[in-house]
Amino acid sequence: MLRARTAVQDLPEYHPPLAGRDGLRLDFNENTEGCSPRVLQQLRKITADDLARYPERGPVEAVVAAHLGLVAEQVLLTNGVDEAIHLLCETYLEPLDEVLVVTPTFGMYEIYAGATGARVVRVQCAADFRFPLAKVLDGIHPATRLIAVASPNNPTGTVADREQLLQIARAAPDAALLVDEAYVEFHGETVVCDIDSFDNLFVTRTFSKAYGLAGLRIGILAGPRPQMPRVRRVSSPYSVNAVALAVLPAALADSDHISCYVAQVKNGRQRVQGALAALGLHSWPSQANFLLVRIGEKHHEFVSAMRQRAVLVRDRSSDPGCAGCVRITIGSEVQTTQLIAALGEVVRELELGREVTA
Ligand code: PMP
Repeated sequence: MLRARTAVQDLPEYHPPLAGRDGLRLDFNENTEGCSPRVLQQLRKITADDLARYPERGPVEAVVAAHLGLVAEQVLLTNGVDEAIHLLCETYLEPLDEVLVVTPTFGMYEIYAGATGARVVRVQCAADFRFPLAKVLDGIHPATRLIAVASPNNPTGTVADREQLLQIARAAPDAALLVDEAYVEFHGETVVCDIDSFDNLFVTRTFSKAYGLAGLRIGILAGPRPQMPRVRRVSSPYSVNAVALAVLPAALADSDHISCYVAQVKNGRQRVQGALAALGLHSWPSQANFLLVRIGEKHHEFVSAMRQRAVLVRDRSSDPGCAGCVRITIGSEVQTTQLIAALGEVVRELELGREVTA
C-alpha cells in the first residue's frame, strides 16, 4: 500500500464537528449575525468575467497593508489563518526542528508543524490559563525555529501582553514568532506595529471571526520585509479566491459594523459571565468572543442538553488542562438573552451548579 511520509502517518486527524449545525451557532466563534451589508452588495456585483480570471491579490494586499499601517511587501493574504500557519511551517521548519506551542491552544499549529517532521514541544499554561512566559523562555533552544502564540488564545480567551511577546521575539532570534491575532477585535492590543522592529515577528489576522466571513476563507499574514519574499515562495499566487478579494475592501471599510458587533459581544461576555457565576459555574476572564466554562463530569450531557434547546456549544474537555470544560461563543444581545435562558434551564435540569460548588 502507498505510504504517506512518516510525519504524516503519525498526525492526528482533525475533524471539527461541522455537521447538523442548526440553531444558535455558539460553537465555532464565528460572527453570529453575519457580515456587513456592504459586503453583500459587492457580492451581487460579481460578474462571469470576474470569475473567469485568475484572482489578482496584489492591489487588495495594498489596501489591507494601509489598513494595518504597513506596506504591501509586509502583507500576504492567505486562505484563512490556517494557510498562513501552513506557509510559516513550510518556510522555516526542517525535520527535527523544534516548535513551541502554548497549550491548550488552536490545534492547527501542531498539525502543520508535525507534518513537516518537526518536533512539537508543548508548554502548558498555568492552571488559571495565564500565559506561562517563564516556561516559554526556558523552552527556547537553538533547535527552536517556530513559536506559536494565539493572543487572545483559543479556547481560553486569555492573552499574552505585548511586552511578553516582544520579550519572546528578542529571546529567540532564530525562531519565527507567530502571534495569532484571530480575535484581536475583541481585545484591542496588537503587535502589528512592532513588526518593523524585528526580523522574526509574524502576525496573523482573520476575517472568519468579527468580520463574519468564515465561509470565504480570508486571512492575513503580516511579517518583516526581508522575510516575506521567502514565505511567498511557498505560497500559491491564487490561494485567495476572486470573490474574497472583491469584497475585502468593503468589509474593511465598514468599521461601524465591526465596532457595533464587538460592543455587543463585550457586553454579552460580561452578562454571560455574571449569569454563569450566579448559576455556580466557573468561567475564566476572556478577551475574545467566547468563554471557557468549567462544567465538570457532565460536560457531554451539557452540550447535548444545550443542543436540544437549539444552542450549539463546543466541548473542549479533551484539550490539555481543560477537563470538564465547554467553550461558548458570545453573540449579539438578543442571542445572549437566549443563551442565558438556556443555560439556566440546563443547569437546573442537570443539577450542575450544585455539583460544581459542592
Ligand atoms: N487562529 C485561531 C486562534 C483560531 O481560533 C482559529 C479558528 N478557530 C483560526 C486561527 C482559524 O482562522 P481561519 O478561519 O482564518 O483559518
